[in-house]
Amino acid sequence: MTGALPRTASTVVVGGGIVGAAAAFFLADRGERDVLLLEREGLGAGTTKGGMGGIRHQFVDEIDVRMSLLAVEFWRDFASFTGSAWDFEERGYLFLASTPAGLAKLKQPLGLYERLGLDVRMLDRADVEELVPGLRVDDLAGARFCARDGYGDPLSALAGFAAGAVLEGVRVAEGTTVRSLAREGDRVTGVRTDDGDVSAERVLLATGCWTAEIAATADVDVPISAFPRRIAESAPLPALAGIPMVVEHESGFHFRPKDGALHFAMPDLTAEAVRERAARRYPKLADLRVERVRDCRYELTPDDHPVLGRVPGARGLYLAAGFSGHGFMHAPATAQLIVEEMLDGRATTLDIADLSIDRFRTGTSRFTGTVL
Ligand SMILES: Cc1cc2nc3c(=O)[nH]c(=O)nc-3n(C[C@H](O)[C@H](O)[C@H](O)COP(=O)(O)OP(=O)(O)OC[C@H]3O[C@@H](n4cnc5c(N)ncnc54)[C@H](O)[C@@H]3O)c2cc1C
Repeated sequence: MTGALPRTASTVVVGGGIVGAAAAFFLADRGERDVLLLEREGLGAGTTKGGMGGIRHQFVDEIDVRMSLLAVEFWRDFASFTGSAWDFEERGYLFLASTPAGLAKLKQPLGLYERLGLDVRMLDRADVEELVPGLRVDDLAGARFCARDGYGDPLSALAGFAAGAVLEGVRVAEGTTVRSLAREGDRVTGVRTDDGDVSAERVLLATGCWTAEIAATADVDVPISAFPRRIAESAPLPALAGIPMVVEHESGFHFRPKDGALHFAMPDLTAEAVRERAARRYPKLADLRVERVRDCRYELTPDDHPVLGRVPGARGLYLAAGFSGHGFMHAPATAQLIVEEMLDGRATTLDIADLSIDRFRTGTSRFTGTVL
């Protein structure tokens, strides 16, 4: 942004990750004027830049599947909504189970998928071999596949949202740190930054794993913590460009093609562990060269689900954070829903009451862990 920070805004969005950029875009798209997006570093500098870019419907809780269905409608038509092209590829997610217990887990949500009209199939070894030739299958008990899943580049999507938002009048200030929230009684009235105070009708915290510290300045307790994760990138392997996201259910090891290489993620990732796992799962990768390992962080809540919605007891304050490893894929749905909550008083496209911060105050969370 050029020029001084405005002193008033209708809505201040704090955080220029995929969620903040998408929310700013949806606010502007709904005709909201005087929206200000504040980011302390550069757009995408937080968790968004480190993600795998995976987009899946294969969750266990209904709200997650519904969020994916809503988001994927948007991802598919991203260019017509935002005016920017991006690289969403619907190549599917292939979950592999190597134990009977793992296979039973993969089968558990099939009824949910059927009820929601989502085509998810169980595969046997021959099907898997056909889908990803060369993958080791002799140790598999079975697999699950959804062709509508896929992947795309998080930073390109963020750029599209941000450009669309700016074209519709949103002011974006990078390099602007929000130090605290301004609170008067039961109302949050704006933000305090190094470049001055901004008063606003609404403040949205889309601040990922930094949300707890900023919410605390308005006496709001948000249980989001940072959890170190890593991604490994291989040397070019163009022959594998078209494969789905492959996920080992039991180990959490997963990989996808990106920019002619493969990107890998797993718990406690090291280059050695990636080489060893990759060679076992895909014998052609016996000589895999890991070119880069990148450090990043998940923004975890105690039940692996985001905090989304208004903050009871702090009028004017809204939260969209703590996506626990799947915030990129859901970003368009998250943004649409939080904007409905802000502008219409309540999200109507989907009921997000279960995602309220209140569940941690009352101990009523009823979600299943979904971290990959
Ligand atoms: C290894 C890895 C793999 C992943 N894979 C996937 C995947 O396959 N699919 C998927 O959907 N998700 C994935 N994720 C998760 C996904 O990347 C995140 O859920 C998502 O990027 C969160 O976006 P966000 O906008 O909420 O947070 P962030 O991108 O962290 O944005 C928050 C922003 O707020 C800014 N900020 C913080 N405090 C302040 C302040 N006081 N003032 C101003 N600005 C502030 C930060 O600088 C930051 O830019 C992965 C994450 C990791 C680490």
